[in-house]
Amino acid sequence: MTASDIQTSFIFLLIASYTLQLWLSRRHIKHIQDHRAAVPAAFANKISLEAHQKAADYTMTRSKFGMLELSFASILLVIWTLGGGLQLLDDFMRSFEFSPILTGIAVIFGLGLISGFLDLPFTLYKTFVIEEKFGFNRLTLKMFITDTLKSTAIMLVIGLPFLYFVLWLMDLRDVSPYWWLYVWGSWFGFSMLMMWLYPAFIAPIFNKFTPLDEPELKSKITQLLERCGFTSNGVFIMDGSKRSSHGNAYFTGFGSNKRIVFFDTLLNSLQHNEIEAVLAHELGHFKRNHIKKRIFTMALMSLGGLALLAWLIDQTFIYEGLGVSQVSSHMALILFMLVTPLISIFLTPIFSLMSRKHEFEADEFAAENTDANNLITALVKLYEENSNTLTPDPLYSAFYDSHPPAPVRVAHLARL
Ligand SMILES: [Zn+2]
Repeated sequence: MTASDIQTSFIFLLIASYTLQLWLSRRHIKHIQDHRAAVPAAFANKISLEAHQKAADYTMTRSKFGMLELSFASILLVIWTLGGGLQLLDDFMRSFEFSPILTGIAVIFGLGLISGFLDLPFTLYKTFVIEEKFGFNRLTLKMFITDTLKSTAIMLVIGLPFLYFVLWLMDLRDVSPYWWLYVWGSWFGFSMLMMWLYPAFIAPIFNKFTPLDEPELKSKITQLLERCGFTSNGVFIMDGSKRSSHGNAYFTGFGSNKRIVFFDTLLNSLQHNEIEAVLAHELGHFKRNHIKKRIFTMALMSLGGLALLAWLIDQTFIYEGLGVSQVSSHMALILFMLVTPLISIFLTPIFSLMSRKHEFEADEFAAENTDANNLITALVKLYEENSNTLTPDPLYSAFYDSHPPAPVRVAHLARL
């Protein structure tokens, strides 16, 4: 293999993944447009035509904007690599003559800063134009700025030391052929630590979590938890309405730091029986070991990725093929992060399929432990309030969707 082979494969992968994503989005938009005129029969007496059309318009607007974002990101990727952007950044940071690790951190940090800055107009447009237009946005510009500053600070405090450590381990490759296993081990440990820290220490920096204290609902939930043999660190309400009117419920942390979190928006729109059913679904994910399976898959994927990185890291022609003239740990890391999505996109349908299978299983668990009809009415309310389309393109949905399309999911629940 030569540098020009790498270059050709890169361009081929980029065009293939770009075309595939664009094609799926266009199909999706056309399908929704074609089904915009009438509410699907299964939902005819549950969802109004107005809500159905709002969901269609909302989804189409976001998909169109997503295509623009994808095009911009693809052009940017070419500029960073073949266009010599990364090389320019590397040369600039090297001119300060820091130690190799500090140079690496400066390059990665610089890349993150520039990318974040270029991405800003898109984020702003999505929040303050699209979400605003459809009545979902509650974020003010001031809150947006505070959020951005907070997450940057967290990233610096937690991310920088870890990055330093990873680059240090990568530089051990002259003395140990197992450096990539050390990187994998520390990355895995770090992810676990973050999952454990997140609910109790990081999430509260952005939102307020108050323990659920409505007596009637609380006793219902306690009974359900006992029935399912589940211990947690509590059921909390999050002030999600501060940022958006989209509602959600999730399950976070592990070990002794497990929490069940309901958005206040969800609590306001659902009845107690429906909340119980949604919670039973979330418990289903836990009881059927979906969290463990997800962690295991993630560990396996990253092990494979790092083995690949270890194999490629000292091949000069790969760097040259991607527009970089000097081999270094940080450049290897950057190129790896930039190029893997072009390959992993083709694995998306497998992960989506696995996730949808888990959703069905969690729904089955909910049906065993509560009334499936409550989950159906809860889902219909959530589809309506979040403007989730009821008519996604089947192929698009099979490729991307982590949750089964609304009609399929409701039909499955109705059978249970
Ligand atoms: Zn679920």
